[in-house]
Amino acid sequence: MLDEWAERGSPLLIDGELVTCDERFETLDPATEEVIGTAADATLGHLDTAIAAARRAFDGWAADLPLRVRCLRQLREALVRHADELRELTVREVGAPRFLTYGAQLDAPVADLGWFADLAETYAWTRDLGRAAPMGMVSERRLLREPVGVVGAITPWNFPHQINLAKLGPALAAGNTVVLKPAPDTPWCAAALGRLLTEETDTPPGVVNIVTGRDHALGARLATDPRVDLVSFTGSTATGREVMRGAAENLKKVFLELGGKSAFIVLDDADLRTACSYAAFTGITHAGQGCAITSRLLVPRARHDEAVEITAHTMAKLGARDPSDDRTVCGPVISARQRDRIEGYLKLAAEEGGSFATGGHRSDRDKGFWIEPTLITGLTNRSRAAREEIFGPVLVILPHDGDDDAVRLANDSPYGLSGAVHGGDVERARAVARRLRTGTVSVNGGIWYAADVPFGGYKQSGVGREMGVAGFEEYLETKVIAEGG
Ligand code: NAD
Repeated sequence: MLDEWAERGSPLLIDGELVTCDERFETLDPATEEVIGTAADATLGHLDTAIAAARRAFDGWAADLPLRVRCLRQLREALVRHADELRELTVREVGAPRFLTYGAQLDAPVADLGWFADLAETYAWTRDLGRAAPMGMVSERRLLREPVGVVGAITPWNFPHQINLAKLGPALAAGNTVVLKPAPDTPWCAAALGRLLTEETDTPPGVVNIVTGRDHALGARLATDPRVDLVSFTGSTATGREVMRGAAENLKKVFLELGGKSAFIVLDDADLRTACSYAAFTGITHAGQGCAITSRLLVPRARHDEAVEITAHTMAKLGARDPSDDRTVCGPVISARQRDRIEGYLKLAAEEGGSFATGGHRSDRDKGFWIEPTLITGLTNRSRAAREEIFGPVLVILPHDGDDDAVRLANDSPYGLSGAVHGGDVERARAVARRLRTGTVSVNGGIWYAADVPFGGYKQSGVGREMGVAGFEEYLETKVIAEGG
């Protein structure tokens, strides 16, 4: 697949056909800037045809639950069969450290497809609400859950398989048809799904359409097109706002997974070395390019300097390394644009009075997009570097004056996506976790990511939940039929 695309470019998937385009754009290896190959650069005309196909396919797909379950399982099996090739692709196109492809960058979301197939099979699609006599009229009431219709799925580049599949899985299981518009930085990860869906599953034409393109206008059109019933968007908060504005035109449903600036709280009874080493490791995993990454480290004031030393030491030791090496935690950032944006924040942090305990600059390499793991000290939680999402291997460390102060600082953020608490007394750590205004919290290293766990944000981190039963139900309408007589 990949050798062929390197020569001819990856195709779109529209109405069951793999469509190659004369217009193409390059996809790069962010570690080396080497051009891996090209991808079809869709026009608004392609998008229009894709939406029309999804509309036509909807009724048949919505009515055939066994087919949906079969196709999802076939897709999972096809992805497993091609795992080696997809692993190479993910390391090269995303710059993802290889170890992550055994988890959230590939294997985990592939396995999750099976969970959505099982859920669709066992889900209570109808529920008897019983007999009642509202306003004196005896009525038999029944509740039905039905697919919403055509889903416009718009996704970012940082965890492309996870995010593409976390939308396709529940949307298809629920009976919707989908037009997927991936980020311009990772077209091949999405195109691979198109290829496998067409060649290795029984998915009918039009049920899934995949439209790669370099122009963000494709996403904007998907958000506004009146034939799309629900927009499922993952990306930055700024673009999420645009999507919501666009969807307001015809009041379509919106589901938004957005940015974060999550806090990692170290309580004063925690093992400081364990907690800070773990904060360093999680903070720079995949070069910090994860929406739920804890990028503000809150440590007890009395042990601040010690915490800085441990964290900086671990970050420097892990370093920014070749993503194809199994031991690498922090690889390159996705693009020159992201690298420059992160550098802009490092400059801003220095202007705001911050210092760098380690890093603070791009890596000393000729090629590729690299930022050295960076720990910023000396800022307050009011500084922009501590409030805004940097999306790089950059942690801001801040002192706190006890549990109440740590909770106050953690919650003093426009975001509310995730968080972490480390403490010796688990009851106390749990109590702090309960007070955080975020969608997920890890206590003492607990991992919340799983197919059955709803994920999403409070405040400006999003609207709705992805994954879990709650995530599946985002893709359903609720209907009630009442029979008289
Ligand atoms: P982005 O917002 O720039 O782009 C995301 C997607 O939206 C891309 O496919 C892009 O082409 C498309 N898009 C751009 N402008 C659009 C518009 N006006 N209308 C519709 N679509 C448009 O985000 P990104 O840089 O690709 O990804 C990084 C961001 O994503 C970070 O802020 C990160 O926190 C967030 N993110 C959130 C989650 C989550 O689940 N909460 C997960 C991963 C990434």
